[in-house]
Amino acid sequence: MSTLALTGGRILRPDLTVDRADVLVDQETGKIAEIGPDLADAADETMDATNSLITPGFVNGHCHVAMTLLRGYADDKPLDAWLSEDIWPAEAELTPEAIEAGAELGLLEMIRAGTTGFADMYFSMERVADAVERAGLRARLGHGVISVGKEHEAAREDAETGLAFAREYDGAAEGRIRTAFMPHSLTTVSTEIYEEYVPKARELDVPIHLHANETADEVTPIVDEHGVRPLAYARDLGLLEPQDFLAHGVHVDETEIELLAETDASVVHCPASNMKLASGMAPVQTLRDAGVTVGLGTDGAASNNDLSLLDEARDAAMVGKLAADDAAAVAADTVVELATTGSAEAIGLPAGRLEPGAPADLAVVDLTGAHLTPAHDLVSHLAYAAAASDVRHTICDGRVLMRDREVLTLDANDVRERATAEATALVERAEA
Ligand SMILES: [Zn+2]
Repeated sequence: MSTLALTGGRILRPDLTVDRADVLVDQETGKIAEIGPDLADAADETMDATNSLITPGFVNGHCHVAMTLLRGYADDKPLDAWLSEDIWPAEAELTPEAIEAGAELGLLEMIRAGTTGFADMYFSMERVADAVERAGLRARLGHGVISVGKEHEAAREDAETGLAFAREYDGAAEGRIRTAFMPHSLTTVSTEIYEEYVPKARELDVPIHLHANETADEVTPIVDEHGVRPLAYARDLGLLEPQDFLAHGVHVDETEIELLAETDASVVHCPASNMKLASGMAPVQTLRDAGVTVGLGTDGAASNNDLSLLDEARDAAMVGKLAADDAAAVAADTVVELATTGSAEAIGLPAGRLEPGAPADLAVVDLTGAHLTPAHDLVSHLAYAAAASDVRHTICDGRVLMRDREVLTLDANDVRERATAEATALVERAEA
C-alpha cells in the first residue's frame, strides 16, 4: 500500500466545521484511509498542509473546456449575437488537435484552481477524454448534439456520434471518465431527434445533459410551438429523469421548479456566464428551498472568462442574494456545498469528503494571503475571499495532480504554447 499524509493543516468536514487534523490517503484505492492527529509516521510520503485548509476538490458541473481557445475573443454581447456572430463561425474551424490543446489548457487551469471533477459538452470528445486521462481529473463527458441548420440525416448522424461516444468511453481512464448523452438544448435539437434518441440513451443507462431555460428568448419559441413551458416539454420528451442535469435554469417558473423537485432532475447554476451574457438571475434559493439538487458550473471560458469554482461560488452568493432580494439567501455554506457535493451529485460523480473511506479528491488552500486574514470563518473565506491562486495542492483519486502550485500531470509551458498556437491559427481561419 502506498500512502500519503497531508500534515499540519486544517480540514473542512462534511458538516462544514473546521478542525486541525492530518489526512492519510491510500493511493492505491484512491480513498482516504484515516483522519486524525500525527499521521506522518504512518505514511510512505508526506505533503505539507500547514497554514492551509484541506477541502473536498471542487466540481465544475457544466463546462466546454476546449473553449479556453476563445477566451477573450468575443465579449460584451447577448447570447444570440455572441453565438451567431463570433462563437459559431470560430467553432466551425475547430480541428481535433485544436480541441485537445484547448482542453489541456482548461484542465491545467482547473487543476490549478483545485477542481477535481467536471462535466463537459463539446465536439471531438475522444480528444478531450485523452486529455482528461493524462491530466488525472474525473469527468462526465458527452458530445454536444445539434440538429438546427442540418438535414434530418445529418442530424441523426450527429446524434449517433453522441451515442457512440457515450457507449465507448463510459468507464474509461480507470473509471474516472463517465459519459452522458448531451443534446445541446431544447431549441437547437429537433423534437424528432429527441423522440428517436432519448430512448436509445436510456438503453445505455447514461444521464442526459442539456442547456435549458438559459435566456427569455429561448422560452418564448417553445411556448409558441408546443403550448407548454420548456421543462414541461422536456418532461414530455422523457428528459427529466433523476440522473439528468440541466445547465442554467435561469428562466424557470413555479410550475417548472415543482417539476424539477418532483422528477429529481438537477440544475447546474452558471452565474458568471449568466451575468456576462445578461441572460438573467437563476432563482437558486427558491430552487434549493423546493428541494432541487443544484450544482455550480463555469460554462465555457469564452463567457466567464475563467474556470475557477471559487470565483463562481462568490458570484453565486452575490447574484443569489440579488435574485432573492435577500442578503441571507445563497449563504456562504450554501455556495461551498454547491461547488463540491452539489455539483458532484448533479453530474453523478463521486465527491471528495474529509472522512475515512471517501474518495481522496482534495484541494489544499493556502491561508497565508493578506486577503484571507484574519481567519474568523474559513467557510466564509472559501465563499467570498479565496482565489484559484490560493490553491497549493490538488489531489484526485489519491493521485497528486499539483504539488506546491506545480502541476505534475501536464507540462504547463508546453500546454500554454500549444494552446496559444492553436488559438491563433483558429481565429485566423475564422476571419479569413
Ligand atoms: Zn454551456
